[in-house]
Amino acid sequence: MMKVKGSMVKVLVIEDEETLLNNLADKLKADGFNVTTARDGELGLEKIRNEHPDLIVLDIMLPKLDGLSICRIVRHDTSTSHIPIIMITARGNEVDKIVGLESGADDYIVKPFTLGEFLARVRAVMRRFSGRLMLQQDEMIANDLRLNLTARRVFKNGEEIKLSNKEFDLLAELMRNRSAVLSRDLILTKVWGYDYFVDKRTVDVHIRWLREKLEEDPSNPRRIVTVRGVGYRFEG
Ligand code: CA
Repeated sequence: MMKVKGSMVKVLVIEDEETLLNNLADKLKADGFNVTTARDGELGLEKIRNEHPDLIVLDIMLPKLDGLSICRIVRHDTSTSHIPIIMITARGNEVDKIVGLESGADDYIVKPFTLGEFLARVRAVMRRFSGRLMLQQDEMIANDLRLNLTARRVFKNGEEIKLSNKEFDLLAELMRNRSAVLSRDLILTKVWGYDYFVDKRTVDVHIRWLREKLEEDPSNPRRIVTVRGVGYRFEG
């Protein structure tokens, strides 16, 4: 996850058993997670689409829309396919479904389980997932923004954003160094190359173009922020 330092990881728990739901939510909150909940499958899917959680904890047997269906829908939507999912199952024999049907779940936990086991599972998936994103996939993801290095394509909320070559290279460099400040000189060297004489203002111009394509409000940027006197920083 590309989280801004200090910001909380958002977990959506979709579970219809109220006591269990409350216990899971309380345990996660106590561990510093930002938690939202849903008690049926339809509401759960709606929250996945509207709230962009960093992790989904998903019960299989749910009213209105079951967990395996939600899992498939999430995996087939480019704006949500990157979100890790931990399935909760009531019976051991459902594990076959989770694994065998290639539901797309990242992990599962069988009821009954202790809250300690649950939390350990959540932490492990978050750790593995951030590592996988950065090291094994050719994609970088920050909130609703997804950048594919091989295909050189960028998606925002699942919709492709057309970038020029230099805009793409610049965005990739910023995302790769997320939360770090990059000076104009460093950006010029990395994106435009050592030998190439380019005015430093070229960086500012390309940053402005990127903001116009990526920011909700380009005049008040939140993804690519200016660090006065130093350079730029990608925040998510
Ligand atoms: Ca259930």
